[in-house]
Amino acid sequence: MHAKYLLDSHDIAPKKSLGQNFLHDPHALGKIVAAAELTSDEAVLEIGAGTGALTVPLAQTNAPITAVEIDERLIPILAQQLADFPNVRIVHTDILDHDPARLVGEMPYVVVANLPYYITSLILRGLLERASRKPRRLVLTIQQEVAERITAKPGDMSLLAVSVQFYGVPKIVGRISAGAFFPRPEVDSAILRVDLHPTPAIAIDEAAFFTVVRAGFAQKRKQLKNALGSGLGISHPEAAAILTAAGIDPARRAETLTLPEWGAVTTVATQTLPALS
Ligand code: SAM
Repeated sequence: MHAKYLLDSHDIAPKKSLGQNFLHDPHALGKIVAAAELTSDEAVLEIGAGTGALTVPLAQTNAPITAVEIDERLIPILAQQLADFPNVRIVHTDILDHDPARLVGEMPYVVVANLPYYITSLILRGLLERASRKPRRLVLTIQQEVAERITAKPGDMSLLAVSVQFYGVPKIVGRISAGAFFPRPEVDSAILRVDLHPTPAIAIDEAAFFTVVRAGFAQKRKQLKNALGSGLGISHPEAAAILTAAGIDPARRAETLTLPEWGAVTTVATQTLPALS
């Protein structure tokens, strides 16, 4: 049922502060569920179930669904919309307070969500870095511009792109115009699917890798030897020596490096700087 009708009939106004833009376009909802390619051994974690627009078609696949929603005003609507689906568990909570894996139980799981945009990065970090058991894949509706940043190639990489691509393969699988939402957001959206690597794409100490990558991106558009030097608290010639030993021209910029190149820099940096390992 259209979110506007459901909200009006419960006298509820959407809260901008919670990123409430409800999806009402059946075609877009169908595309999201199709993109999830759920199999019979998978559970679903839906973040931000809203009025259940996405929860209902997800529930129709018969998968066990855990639908998380922070806004208590929406819980009675969700309960009503999903009354016929014993495979759905509605959890009234803030997703940021949880280990996502523990919300779904033992089964392999897939995260499907039309995300509240104000916490996209925090939720991504929670799912990719902190989950005690990683999801198999994510199918997330996010701002188109953010989806494009995440799927960038060397030349246009960012800390966000490296962080997501370290854990999986991101792909834009659809676009959703602002008019498909109520209220209409200011930006268009994209459906981003991320297939997580069963084991990390590069075998490396994760903490050291991200210390190096963060240092590299800390000073935008600077040559890597300068950014890494300042970021790791070493001299620029020392940073240049690490880069050269890793086979990287010290004059390159962070946005041009591939993941294996970041891996090579991390390997040399950990050998040279004991504090990193
Ligand atoms: N899934 C619904 C749909 O597609 O119409 C709603 C999507 S709306 C973009 C995002 C939803 O996330 C809202 O219902 C909002 O209340 C909820 N939300 C915001 N912050 C949250 C949080 N920290 N934890 C859980 N849900 C949250």
